[in-house]
Amino acid sequence: MSDWSHRHILDLATFSLEDFNSVLELANRFKDVPTKGTRKLPALQGRLITTLFFEPSTRTRSSFELAAKRLSADVQSFTPTSSSLSKGETPIDTALTYVAMGADVLIVRHSSTNVPDQLASYLDATGSKTAVLNGGDGLHSHPSQGLLDLYTLAKFFNPNNPKPEAIKGKRIVIVGDILHSRVARSNLWALTACGANVVLCGPPTLLPYEFADFVNAPPPGQSHDPVAKRGQITIFRSLKEAFKGADAVMTLRLQKERMRQNLITDLYQYHYEYGITHESLKWCKQKVPVLHPGPVNRGVEMSSALLEDTSICLVKEQVQNGIPIRMALLYLLATRV
Ligand code: ASP
Repeated sequence: MSDWSHRHILDLATFSLEDFNSVLELANRFKDVPTKGTRKLPALQGRLITTLFFEPSTRTRSSFELAAKRLSADVQSFTPTSSSLSKGETPIDTALTYVAMGADVLIVRHSSTNVPDQLASYLDATGSKTAVLNGGDGLHSHPSQGLLDLYTLAKFFNPNNPKPEAIKGKRIVIVGDILHSRVARSNLWALTACGANVVLCGPPTLLPYEFADFVNAPPPGQSHDPVAKRGQITIFRSLKEAFKGADAVMTLRLQKERMRQNLITDLYQYHYEYGITHESLKWCKQKVPVLHPGPVNRGVEMSSALLEDTSICLVKEQVQNGIPIRMALLYLLATRV
């Protein structure tokens, strides 16, 4: 992976097709490590990986910690409730405490957009070698989730060779609360970079029309798009229309903690219009996989029956694929320092 150029991993908008290839290829090499043989590799022995989660997490944090342990790194985790945050310390100062202790990679999650970016800029300006990996910031970005979703889809479409090209030309439908979802944003950068055409579906309050142009220009502060030609984004309000010709469906949690006002009046009505069920999937005309980043609100984004139908629902695979993907990300960052 000598061509890996990222010192930090903050946003998939900065990834080229080669970057997506490198991560998926490495994850595929690591995929059996957690379950076979000695279940560990010595690759990151002696490196220190720190998880700094200022916001709750079930999957991402445990998955990163397990990934680090499978590569024999030392792992340190920070718990906001028992920390000096309650004494008024800023998140950046908290992070710098762990940098001073020798962290090689800091995995940062925060409810405010750009905390990981600010920390990375500060570390660069001060000549620190510590790398920052964004574990999810505000509405902005969740790179490891976008990558594990990409890997899950690539494995579904081409189990023997799960590369980004496996999703080229596929029609991937993302349903639900796009406006408040950092997962949707990371998926838009990843999927369109790999040549998939993304269909977004949701009510106007959760899916403004501006999302059709989301990848047309790099985000503010980024000088150019590293991808020459991206897939397209289209918007539908009706699930029936959106599902026509779909190859895969991803649905998202209603992010009530991020809604500044009540954007959904009735959860039953929402489920009726946008909830994914075995019935609504019939509009796809073919059997398609269903993804959800979790946590799932059963009976809202997706029916319980569908969540438990492992012949269609890939939620378990997403969790499992998260480990080799995060091993790959930690390896790429920690072996540079
Ligand atoms: N776990 C994902 C995130 O942290 C999705 C969600 O919370 O709905 O963004």
